[in-house]
Amino acid sequence: MSKRVLITGGAGFIGSHLSERLLAEGNEVICVDNFFTGSRRNVEHLFDNPRFELMRHDVTFPLYVEVDQIYNLACPASPVHYQHDPVQTTKTSVMGAINMLGLAKRLRVPILQASTSEVYGDPAVHPQTEDYWGNVNPIGTRSCYDEGKRAAETLFFDYRRQHDLSIKVIRIFNTYGPRMHPNDGRVVSNFIVQALRGEPITIYGDGSQTRSFCFVDDLVDGMVRLMNTGHDVTGPINVGNPGEFTMLELANAVLEIVGSDSTIEHRPLPQDDPKQRQPNIDLARRELGWEPTVALRPGLERTVEYFRGALAAAGA
Ligand code: NAD
Ligand code: UDP
Ligand code: UDP
Repeated sequence: MSKRVLITGGAGFIGSHLSERLLAEGNEVICVDNFFTGSRRNVEHLFDNPRFELMRHDVTFPLYVEVDQIYNLACPASPVHYQHDPVQTTKTSVMGAINMLGLAKRLRVPILQASTSEVYGDPAVHPQTEDYWGNVNPIGTRSCYDEGKRAAETLFFDYRRQHDLSIKVIRIFNTYGPRMHPNDGRVVSNFIVQALRGEPITIYGDGSQTRSFCFVDDLVDGMVRLMNTGHDVTGPINVGNPGEFTMLELANAVLEIVGSDSTIEHRPLPQDDPKQRQPNIDLARRELGWEPTVALRPGLERTVEYFRGALAAAGA
């Protein structure tokens, strides 16, 4: 059955892929975005589709639309961007969640929250399971994002308890792929752009910190599966690729794929940078029948191809 689906943050990296997927399945998509980090360019290839609509709107303000499902993705995701205006970041997470939950409550429709592995902070439990409460600094430079997302989770579960809403909380681990912004500041886009331009690869700290990288198509599949579960499935559910790599390993893989002779330069490690991160995805396997299908190497190759084209088109 075709549905009308609202995606907040729909003109961002993940939102644009989710829009494509939902349209391909025959749904109508209303994409709401204030274009802080996203852009019309990310979704302009969808403008010809009569089932697609793009609205400029900031989710910290109320929104009145009529839809069957809500995916709440609005929030800058890269440390460089979410730290640019940290008060706005917390407002987006908290007030955005309240408004979208209010909308879901009025319409009695399911709502999915794009939460994050950052709710685990600098984790003392490894790999991270959903029952781990995390190790988050409440007053540091990452807190606007981490605590904003934690408060949003609280709101989702309180709307569930108080109003019996169908909520779906997905904890997304580092995701990459085509359509990441070249100046996004995240590690995969930074390394690829630096390698393609022959500029030094910037490794923060000694490069021994780890992350687990999920290809965007796999993530989107997990999101759609979670949204389409029954009322009893709320999450939180980790969705990520358990393959864990140090930043030095990532840099070397990118250099090899690009065939670049860029040097490696070390820069200071940002405050509260998590030392390790790897999802335990037993719950996603069990409740969603989901697991990742794209390993890091082929995923990076597809992302490098995308950036080659994008940089060439931009004349850079
Ligand atoms: P992104 O920055 O590309 O997309 C976020 C989108 O939200 C952008 O289009 C931006 O303009 C929009 N936005 C920001 N504030 C808004 C506001 N107040 N009102 C309306 N729109 C607003 O980032 P992304 O990687 O696509 O992330 C999407 C979601 O997934 C975010 O909620 C992020 O926290 C979450 N997430 C992403 C990752 C990842 O690795 N990419 C990991 C964990 C969680
Ligand atoms: N809201 C919205 N769209 C709707 C319904 C509600 O944006 O269709 C907003 C509304 O502005 C409110 C928030 O969601 O501030 C929370 O709504 P709720 O009904 O939970 O709370 P209340 O209206 O009682 O404050
Ligand atoms: N990082 C890096 N060089 C860069 C950008 C990031 O070494 O040019 C490191 C960063 O310090 C962190 C990891 O890569 O340890 C992942 O950073 P990102 O901002 O992509 O995601 P997050 O820290 O939010 O997981």
